[in-house]
Amino acid sequence: MNTHKIKVRDLYVAHPAPLLKAEHLVASLSHDMDEGDLLHLVDRFGRNVGTAIYGIQPRSIGWVVSKQALPSLDASFFAHKFANAFSKRIAFLKSPKTNVFRIFNGEGDGIGGLTVDYYDSHLLISYYNLGIYRYREAIRKAVRQTAEFTAIVEKKRFGDNQDGEVLGGVFSENLGMPAGEPRETEQTEARNLPPFICKENDVKCWIDLVNGGMTGIFADQREVRKTIRNKYAKGQRVLNLFSYTAMFSVFAALGGAKSTTNVDLARRSHELAKANYELNNLSPDAHEFITGDVFQFLESAAKSDYRYDLIIIDPPSFSNSSYGTFSSEKGLGKLIEACLKVAHKNSRLVVSTNNSRISAEKFKKIVSEKLVVLEEFSLPQDYRYAKDVEGSNYLKVAICKIKI
Ligand code: SAH
Repeated sequence: MNTHKIKVRDLYVAHPAPLLKAEHLVASLSHDMDEGDLLHLVDRFGRNVGTAIYGIQPRSIGWVVSKQALPSLDASFFAHKFANAFSKRIAFLKSPKTNVFRIFNGEGDGIGGLTVDYYDSHLLISYYNLGIYRYREAIRKAVRQTAEFTAIVEKKRFGDNQDGEVLGGVFSENLGMPAGEPRETEQTEARNLPPFICKENDVKCWIDLVNGGMTGIFADQREVRKTIRNKYAKGQRVLNLFSYTAMFSVFAALGGAKSTTNVDLARRSHELAKANYELNNLSPDAHEFITGDVFQFLESAAKSDYRYDLIIIDPPSFSNSSYGTFSSEKGLGKLIEACLKVAHKNSRLVVSTNNSRISAEKFKKIVSEKLVVLEEFSLPQDYRYAKDVEGSNYLKVAICKIKI
């Protein structure tokens, strides 16, 4: 990795931000630079103002890692950041009820584009740009120095293949491996890791860290699932849109829901969902799994005069189906409107978005146009965010009643 001296604008010097954007630079970057190179940021007089890792993401070109001019980043640099982050998750590590949580949350823990998740002693390292990915050797080494684990899986969350690569033979000295076996520490060949079971507030869930970009559960919705189970589910007919592995529904069913109806485009989602019901001693036969487009479903359900008591709306930021294209930025209001047609005056709606382009204010405005907000949720404690990075506190959830 090389270093380059890069001039930043006066405005940036006056208001330095950890997320480096193209508009912060005096001139555009030259083409002979590689992502992962270190940018030594200087003001108009050539004085050092910090070091950034060059890495391209949708709205940024780098992450400032230090106020000093660092010549390189080694394992001890990352180990220091990890140790600090891990020490803030001790309560989660000790929880007898939950063993899925985030132990390093990108910018919230001081390095953008990098997360580490904990799944019952398996660690998932995710890289969100090529720049940070180029430091993977140092990052692996640092994780091994600072965390306890049974296996590490790495995912590239940029580019086409987002499958996990399991690091073979990387095991902690302290956890669960047969005694006396030689422990290889540098082997990176892909190794099969079958799906395994995790728990969240004593509810079980299948986890697959290897196939695809998603793992089976979105841990940032932990508090929402718990609240649905404890406060909103009892006796209700629940509609779960964009249901994926249906963990919202499983919590609702365990909270005494009368029925749950899951709608997802992907047949595979429903297979995984049914396995989660069974894992929690719920019979999938007593629940509904509809493969198809949410908008199409809502239209035909409204025509048939179906009504639901609790409607969970957690769409992806973008979606393409044969029925049309959906973007939560433009379409969330319309989606809520369509849901109102299958609601009644006492229905509750859970509206959620993880789209960082929708600000908390904008979200509140969209929701309040149609609904009355009863409760709001944002990221849980393990998903530490950076106050000075726009979009870092990305999760917005509102539990609402109908406007009368
Ligand atoms: N709410 C889920 C996460 C949703 S992930 C949870 O809490 O776990 C997004 C899901 O939406 C995926 O499973 C995808 O298959 C589904 N999806 C995307 N577009 C869709 C559409 N137009 N209609 C139905 N499902 C859709």
